[in-house]
Amino acid sequence: MNPAISGAIRGRFVARTVRVRAPGKVNVSLNVGPLRPDGYHSVASVYLAVSLYEEVAATSTEGPGITVSIAPSSTLDLDGVDIPLDERNLAYKAAAIMRDVSENATGVHLEITKRVPVAGGMGGGSADAAATLLACDALWNSGLSREELAHLAAELGADVPFSLLGGTAVGLGVGDELSPALAKAQMDWVLVCADYGLSTPEVFHTLDRLRNTEGLDIPEPLEVDAKILQALRDGNPVALSKVLVNDLQRASIELSPQLRDTIGMGESSGALAGIVSGSGPTVALLAHNPRAAEGLAEDLRHLGHNALAVHGPVPGARIISDTLL
Ligand code: ATP
Repeated sequence: MNPAISGAIRGRFVARTVRVRAPGKVNVSLNVGPLRPDGYHSVASVYLAVSLYEEVAATSTEGPGITVSIAPSSTLDLDGVDIPLDERNLAYKAAAIMRDVSENATGVHLEITKRVPVAGGMGGGSADAAATLLACDALWNSGLSREELAHLAAELGADVPFSLLGGTAVGLGVGDELSPALAKAQMDWVLVCADYGLSTPEVFHTLDRLRNTEGLDIPEPLEVDAKILQALRDGNPVALSKVLVNDLQRASIELSPQLRDTIGMGESSGALAGIVSGSGPTVALLAHNPRAAEGLAEDLRHLGHNALAVHGPVPGARIISDTLL
């Protein structure tokens, strides 16, 4: 049966599930400008989509409305973690925005499989939103182009368009003005995940406070360092390790000083370099190759860390199944 035909078949409601996966990200470079009058910060960043994926299964429902649950198969320990399941959830917001532009919208249940650390600086909620946009677009045959979906994604949050796009990209504006970048080879990383989260707005506020005390004049970031793009183009992890930069890192370390030790420990255990991912507290350690990453992750796990070998770039949000129930 053609899965494009969902809803009532011979008067009987037939539910359909579209399952989409979307990657988390690491900011290989992140330059942050001063606080703007509108309350945002301009950034210049190189995003890398990595092989740690969120999954959203969107199932059409007979009744109206949007509901959200977290799949028991989620690999994160979500005890005590605050993920709202109502209209504050980014996946819920994505479904609501899609419903507004879809003629054939039904009710929908969203089941999210969480793998990207919550409030970890890897854009996990943004990946859920990107996955939901794509799933509801298919479920409701909205027929939106990738460009139209990217436009809706930007309304949901600065990191959502990148999770839709994937790969490697330069992000300007608040991070949503994306241009794909070339990456010749995959880079291997070890993610060291914390058992707590950091609030992205609080990390930005802390950076503003630190900069205010120093009285420095911070320029608007208008472009990314060409050496970063060159290292990615050449597939050269050693060159990349020398130019990793994250302006938010000092603010994340101010809020969570043990992050400095995590980076130091990663580097002394063989990583080429370590960096806080986005607003943290996940630390991304760059490795020479897949074997080095696996070995480093294992060593760190023996030391009691929650460490995971990943690679990037990987593609953005993709439909992985589409079934009539
Ligand atoms: P970013 O790197 O994009 O700033 P993050 O990865 O640090 O974000 P998220 O995991 O996206 O952080 O979640 C930040 C907060 O957003 C959470 O603490 C949670 O309260 C809320 N939230 C809303 N929707 C979701 C969702 N689908 N998954 C996780 N958290 C969500």
